[in-house]
This record gives sequence, C-alpha cells and structure tokens, in this order.
Amino acid sequence: MNVAAAPKFTADDAARLARELYGLSLTAESLPSERDRNFVLKDDVGPRFVLKIANREEALEVLDLQNKLLERLAASATGLAFPRLVAARSGLEITPVPGEDGAAYFVRLLTWVDGVPMATVQPHSVELLRSLGAALARVDRALAGFEHAAAHRIFYWDLRHASMAWRYLDLLPEERRRILRPFIDAWRALDWDSLPAGTIYNDANDYNVLVDPAGTRVVSLLDLGDAVHSAIAGDLAIAMAYAMLDKQDPIAAAAEVVAGYHSVRPLSEAETDAVYTLAAARLCASVCYAANQARLAPDNQYLNISNRPAWALLEKLASFPIGWPTEVFRRVCGYAAGARTSASLAESRRRMLGPSLSLSYSEPLHIVRGWRQHLYDAGGRRYLDCVNNVAHVGHAHPRVNEAASRQMALLNTNTRYLHEHLAEYIERLTALLPPSLNVVYLVCSGSEANELALRLARAHTGRDGIFVLDAAYHGNTSALVDISPYKFNGKGGRGKPAHVEIMPLPDTYRGPYRGPDAASRYAAHVADAARKSPPAAFFAESASGCGGQIFFPPGYLADAFAAVRSAGGVCVADEVQTGFGRAGSHFWMFETQGALPDIVTMGKPIANGHPMGAVATTRAIADSFANGMEYFNTFGGNPVSCAAALAVLDVVRDEGLQENARATGDYLLAGLRDLATRSPLIGDVRGCGLFLGVELNATAAEASALVDRTKEGGVLLSTDGPRHNVIKIKPPLVFGRADADVLLHQTWGML
Ligand code: PMP
Repeated sequence: MNVAAAPKFTADDAARLARELYGLSLTAESLPSERDRNFVLKDDVGPRFVLKIANREEALEVLDLQNKLLERLAASATGLAFPRLVAARSGLEITPVPGEDGAAYFVRLLTWVDGVPMATVQPHSVELLRSLGAALARVDRALAGFEHAAAHRIFYWDLRHASMAWRYLDLLPEERRRILRPFIDAWRALDWDSLPAGTIYNDANDYNVLVDPAGTRVVSLLDLGDAVHSAIAGDLAIAMAYAMLDKQDPIAAAAEVVAGYHSVRPLSEAETDAVYTLAAARLCASVCYAANQARLAPDNQYLNISNRPAWALLEKLASFPIGWPTEVFRRVCGYAAGARTSASLAESRRRMLGPSLSLSYSEPLHIVRGWRQHLYDAGGRRYLDCVNNVAHVGHAHPRVNEAASRQMALLNTNTRYLHEHLAEYIERLTALLPPSLNVVYLVCSGSEANELALRLARAHTGRDGIFVLDAAYHGNTSALVDISPYKFNGKGGRGKPAHVEIMPLPDTYRGPYRGPDAASRYAAHVADAARKSPPAAFFAESASGCGGQIFFPPGYLADAFAAVRSAGGVCVADEVQTGFGRAGSHFWMFETQGALPDIVTMGKPIANGHPMGAVATTRAIADSFANGMEYFNTFGGNPVSCAAALAVLDVVRDEGLQENARATGDYLLAGLRDLATRSPLIGDVRGCGLFLGVELNATAAEASALVDRTKEGGVLLSTDGPRHNVIKIKPPLVFGRADADVLLHQTWGML
C-alpha cells in the first residue's frame, strides 16, 4: 500500500464534504493515519463523527469488508462500543469524491466513540492488560464464521505475509538486522496449518485501543482497515506487541494480555506456542516498514510513532533467554507440564522441606531461568542479579553447559580412574596459584574444601586449635560450624568451643583500629594469640563476606600469616566467595593483601553452579596428610565437574572477565562513593572488583525492606554483616557498565 497515495484533503475539505454529503455543519480536525485521511467532526459539545477518506489504492471491497465487520461487531455481545456507519444523504454508505489529483477517493462517515487511546494511559494496570486480552478474545469470538471475499487478500500487515516486510531488511544497518534475525527465523519456522484461521481485526495497536477515562478497561477498538483472513492468534499477538512497548517487564505485561484472552477464548497449545513469535514478528515487520516509509515519506510523523519504542523493545526481547517468554505463556494457559503456582511450591516446602532454611525476600521469587547477569521468573519478570557470585561467568553460560552436558553424556564416575579432564584441571588450577601451592584435592562444596583444610592443618601440625576472624563463616559441617562465629555466636549457636580463638575482624570502618597502623594493630592480636597458644591453623576469608564485605587494611593478612607461621601454624585462605578473578586486580583476593597462604579453599564459582570445591596446598602439608588413610570423595573431581570447571577457566580468560570485574567494579565503586556523598542512608562504600559492600545507616529490618523494594524494581540484592545492614554486591562477572548504571541510577533512586 502506497502511503504516498494517502489523500491530500484538508480539514476545510472535510467540513465541506460533511456538509455536502451528510448535511452536517461541523468543524473538522485531522487525525493521524498511516495511509488514509481521517477527520474528527466536532460541534460545540465535542466530537460527533469521524470522516474517513480512504487511500486512493484502497479497493471498494475492502471498505465493504470493514462496513460488514462493523455491522457484525455491533450486533455481537463484545461488551465494546463500535462506531456506527452513517449513510450519506444519497443513501450511499461509501461515496466516491474527486481529489485534487482528479482520482476518486472513497468517503465514509462513522459515529464518534468516546474513549482514551491506551497509548496515552500510564501505567497499564494488570486489570487493563487483562481487559485488552479479553476484549480481543470477545471480538475474535464474535467474528467466528464471518466470511467476506475481501478478507482473503494478500495484505502487508497480515502476519502470514510478514515476508513482505523482510524485503526491507537491507535498509537496516547490520547491527539492527542481527537483532531481528532470530525473530524472523522463528517466524519462518511457524506451522501455520496448526493455527486456527478466520477473519480478524488485526490492528490492536495502542492508538486504536480505547479505554475508559480511569484507564481500567478497554471500551472500543478503532479502525478495521487492517482486517484480514489470517491466524486468529494474530489479534492477540498484535495486542501483545504494543502492550509490551515501554514496559520494564514486557513479558509480564504480555502474560496479562494472554491471560485475559485465554479466559474468554481459550488458546490451543499450538496458538500458545506461536503467540510470542507472532508478536515479535509484528514488531519486526513494523520496524522494517518504518525503514521503508522513512525512505519514501521522510516527513510523515505517524510513521515514527511506534518506531523508537519498538526498537528498544526488540533489543530487550533479544536479550531474553530463548524459550522463556513462551514458557511464561504456557504457564498462563495451563500447558506447562509440571508447572505449579508459587503458593503451592511454598506450601510444599513449608510442609516437607527441612525448616532450617529461609527463603529470600518477604515475597519469595519463583525463578525459572537464568541468563547471563539476569534471573527470570515464572510470571514474566526479569531481575538484575547482583547476588549470585556462584554463576561466575553468567547464568547458563553456553560453554559451561555444553562442556558439562557433553561429558555427562559420555562418562561420569569417581576419580579412581585416569581421566584427561582431571589432569588438565589440576594442571591449570595450580598454574593460576603461587608455585608453592602445587597439590590439589577436588571436592564437592566449599564446606568440604574447608573441612579437608581443617584435617590437613591438624595432620600437619599435630595440633587442634583454630584461629578465626570474628563474624566468619566457613561451612555447614559440625567442625566448620565450630570455627564459624557467624554460626556459633548467632541464633541457635552454642557459643565458642574451647579449641577456637576469635581474632578481631580487621574492620577499619567500625572496628577499634582505623588509622594507618590498623593492619599491624589487628595483626598484633593474631601474633599475641599465636604466642600464647600456637594453633593448628588460622582460617581467614581474604575479604570477609559474612562479616559484611570487610576489606582488610593493606598488609594485614601477610602480617597475620607470618605470625601464625612463625608459631608453627598453617594459614588457610578461604577463597570460596572471592576467588577466580572476582577481585579484578588479581585472580585471588589473598593476592590483593600480598599474602601467601599454605592452603587455599575454593568453591561456589569454581564450576559456575555445578557443585564442586577444591583445596590447594603445599607438597609438605599434603605429605603429612598422606598417613595411609585414604581421602576418598565419591563425586569430587568427577569428569563432569572438571569439564564444567575447565570451561569456567576458559570463559574467564576468553571473555576477559577478571578485567571486566576490575573496570566495572571501579566504576561502580566510584558511582557508589559519589552517591554516598549525597545520601545520609549510606554509611560506607567498599569493594574490590565485583565484590562490594554498601553499609547502610539502617537497622536490619530497614535494610531488608530496602532489598525487598529493589527486588520489586527488578534488582536483586542481599544483606549481610553482623548487623545485617550491609548491602552485598557480588554479581556474575559478565555484569557490565550498563548494569552498574541501573544499580546506580535506578536502584538507589528507589531507596
Ligand atoms: N566459605 C565461605 C566463605 C562461604 O561463603 C561458604 C558458603 N557461603 C562456604 C565456605 C561453604 O560453602 P558451601 O555452602 O558450598 O559448602
């Protein structure tokens, strides 16, 4: 359809036609239209009619189709108000009139329908989005069996013929074509025969949808000019496409439209599976046509109305994990096998899961997918994940997934056999550690790693006593709870066991020593204690996570380790949270302290979520432990874990994630420090790479309410520290500058 063939009539012409053809004395004002010319006719009270002058290329049968559709809809129980067609004084419903170019243009008059364009209503409530779906379903129901020869046309807005739009792909720059390609491929793969067909309205764009003044329900649908015989689900898909524009959570919004629709005209499984592809195809077609029209008619404003938001939306949709939107819609329509409501999942946990585990957030999340630095819930919402340091190289990283699943399909067994993956992994891991730490044990968790470290240290020294930092957590076994003040001094704890000594947490914000000599003064406590009762080991995280993201004054760890070592003890760096490049400047956090441990324990990020841990130590310590009793660990070091862990090392290296941690961490730290100068809520900002803490001037309850609120805004944070008032930031290392900006500019605005 040639947009340039839009009629050239003026408002004065329209007023004249109203008078001459319909005997109406009204004033006329132009309305926007893609390819026709429409005028509102008003009297003193307000709008009365719409005078529609069709595009020169519009066939008479198509206008007749529109008229017949209006009649059908007016006679059906749709709950919507449709315009009525007004005949001219001549008795004609469609009157040809000559344009200034001498061609005949078809004129029709429709009664005015009151309502507010949905595009101008903000925000779109759940109620409104559901009403939109329901309205379209009622229209589709009303049109069941409607037949008109003109509906069987090859029409460029018919989603079946969206390939007419793909002809303009070449007008787009390559980076934009790259966004569209997967959506177009999905459209090409559609099985149209599986989708029920009929005459559809085909144009529920947000300027055509009228809602009540309160913005709670749809009252009318305008403009039947795009009606066509096509897949019925196209009506829903088009409404979804526009409902998703400018939404923080477009899939959640679309899910409400689907729910409303499904409640009136239940979607088949095939339709449910197709609607997302159809909606995305509509957006793709829209931007392709806009590219063409911009070339043909550079000054037609209407063409640009939905273009910019459409691109923003397409970019966002392209960042979602494949299949997730459809999974959400399948849940809405009851086609997701095994899917259950959040309430039923919570109830099952409450009744049958060991009760010693709380859920995050006062309204728990039901997460169904992870992708890069985001988590995706069952209801269609996406969250920026600033919590899960375990998904080190990004959730569901394809290289980790591929490596682990390929190995899973080949062999998974214990480590009493030779295997390439194990050999390669221990070679590569030791190459990343100081040369003295050249013996590795592979285990299944951070707790197992620390548990083994405890045994190694005791075997090597023949002693029992352990030094730990205040507020530390080292794992969930009995022996580790005994060396974790976070636990034994916390709720349900039995206090400090006799064999454990607590060293002051080297906290330069709240602790006793804050000046330039803080490192040596904190280390002096360790030296004193080591002189008095030499321990088997000193366990320390290289920066304290459970202690509230505490970064030690420079040199502390080196001094403390030296004191312990000179008393014959073993120094254990717990890198379970902090290792593998998170520190940014260094691969291991202990390196930022210039310290050399005797044992390093690893876990969490080591295999990107696959359960694994590791202990690295010296040959001398390993030899002391090798007293004849074997250390057997059924799953530790199995080929699948090693494959996943190797892939993590590959990705950290190939994607430059340590450097990203440094650059993004520095950027975030600077931004947070700037915020702190303006926000009395922020007490202290500290961090190293992508391991940061923001200590709030707030109570535990206030801090957790804040974290609940940011979650509602789509950003996941957690709190920690003895006062539970420190916001922890430890996202997957693919977290970038744009994500940091979300955190700095949106999230803190919510606090
Ligand atoms: N050490 C530290 C520092 C930890 O943070 C944790 C887990 N929070 C552990 C050890 C124990 O690891 P896991 O839960 O994998 O056993």
